[in-house]
Amino acid sequence: MRKVTEIASYHAHIYFDPATGREDALAIREAAAERFAARMGTIWDKPVGPHSRAMYQIAFEPGLFASLVPWLMLNNRGLSILIHPNTTNQKRDHLLDAVWIGPPLPLDGEMLPEESEAELAGAVNTTPTLNP
Ligand code: ZN
Repeated sequence: MRKVTEIASYHAHIYFDPATGREDALAIREAAAERFAARMGTIWDKPVGPHSRAMYQIAFEPGLFASLVPWLMLNNRGLSILIHPNTTNQKRDHLLDAVWIGPPLPLDGEMLPEESEAELAGAVNTTPTLNP
């Protein structure tokens, strides 16, 4: 059995349609930043990496899962949110071991390495910041 200590951190990816969902996505971002010691990532207004829609990520430590994830469940504003662990296998993290809030969206698995250096699993900065 795999151990949960494999999980260095988590990402929540908040997807949005730039034409109709950006305001909701940013409202979630601001409210989350006020409440949780998580790291807010860059806002991408177009698909990037394996992600098929505009999005930003929230990076957080395992200890925040039990409070942040339920909060996102109740405050998703109709958006799709991908929650995935960060281990050493990004492909498995995103495609097999993730959970979705709202309707699942396609991911381009070709963009994801099967094994990566541990540092790519995501250093977690516990200081919340709002990037432009
Ligand atoms: Zn991610």
